[in-house]
Amino acid sequence: MVTGNKRDYYSVLGVDRDADQQSIKQIYRKLALKYHPDRNPGNKEAEDRFKEISEAYQVLSDPAKRQKYDQFGHQGLDGSGFQPFTGFDEIFESFGDIFGDFFGGGRRTRSRAVKGDDLRYDLVIDFMDAIKGSEREIEIEKLAFCDTCGGSGCKPGSSPRTCPQCNGIGQVRRSQGFFMISTPCPQCHGSGHIISDPCTACSGLGKVEKRKRLTVKIPPGVDSGSRIRLRGEGEPGSLGGPNGDLYIILRVKEHALFQRNGDDVLLEYPITFSQAALGTTIEFEGLDGKESVTVPAGTQSGKDIIFKGKGVRNLRGYGSGDLYLRVIVVTPTRLSGREKEIFEELSQLEGTAVHPGKKKSIFEKIKDSIS
Ligand SMILES: [Zn+2]
Ligand SMILES: [Zn+2]
Repeated sequence: MVTGNKRDYYSVLGVDRDADQQSIKQIYRKLALKYHPDRNPGNKEAEDRFKEISEAYQVLSDPAKRQKYDQFGHQGLDGSGFQPFTGFDEIFESFGDIFGDFFGGGRRTRSRAVKGDDLRYDLVIDFMDAIKGSEREIEIEKLAFCDTCGGSGCKPGSSPRTCPQCNGIGQVRRSQGFFMISTPCPQCHGSGHIISDPCTACSGLGKVEKRKRLTVKIPPGVDSGSRIRLRGEGEPGSLGGPNGDLYIILRVKEHALFQRNGDDVLLEYPITFSQAALGTTIEFEGLDGKESVTVPAGTQSGKDIIFKGKGVRNLRGYGSGDLYLRVIVVTPTRLSGREKEIFEELSQLEGTAVHPGKKKSIFEKIKDSIS
């Protein structure tokens, strides 16, 4: 892991913030060749510089990552599936093609390895599990190495033959203008060997479908669309390549009472006319247990009372959102005889309650405008 303060990726490559993809690629290639470990054996400084420029290139060459980085800086990349490079193999695996044939055969053997496919699993979780975090067991079906042949694809006791077309290199070379181009061997598909006696359990593929149970840790603060990456839980790689990753895509169920908007949460709370007019104290169940608040006399319907920091804990650790308690004044629909009497009396009072010299109420203004 790269820790501590990081330099701005644009300064690392020495490019303008609006540089296009082509010039970023060109500059990276130039710098990468200069600081390449093969050209600077035993030079720790060059090695660190090489990793640094490769990491910058990894982000700036990917439009989605670049946009996140532009908007939020280094923090924007945390949790977005971005992993800084730790070794050279990863770098060559990711963009070895940039170096082309420059470094000859030594690296090519490594770059033949192919990372396994990433997998996706859609997981529906409850509203409160998204807010508090939880753990879920899932079962996935994925390709895994065949137990019978150990992934070789050969019938036990037999072994693969070296491919006659590429002599086991896995690549065939042909010239194109000034350049030599390497392409995967058409006969062995890049593996360098041919299986003449295939394993019956996997038909020579070396991989079979298997079910696997996994525990998914859901951190507090996730929302619909959040992705959880389980490194290496995708399908197995080929020719020694690493496993793919498994992405859990979350969908959060709606709650009967709470409505979520980012890290803020809204709760509507009904009160009566008299409570709104006279004021009242209400108690309710918030996200973290009981809350209570005084609603002042004369509160209008739709008034929000804000509980700072009582919303959802931010997924990236930036504090917590707020809880909005929206007071809704409910008009009664079924009045008892006595209630009706009181409302009628109230209505009469309202009709005659004009106090000279006082500010006119909204009702009086409307009445004046009609007459
Ligand atoms: Zn097998
Ligand atoms: Zn071949």
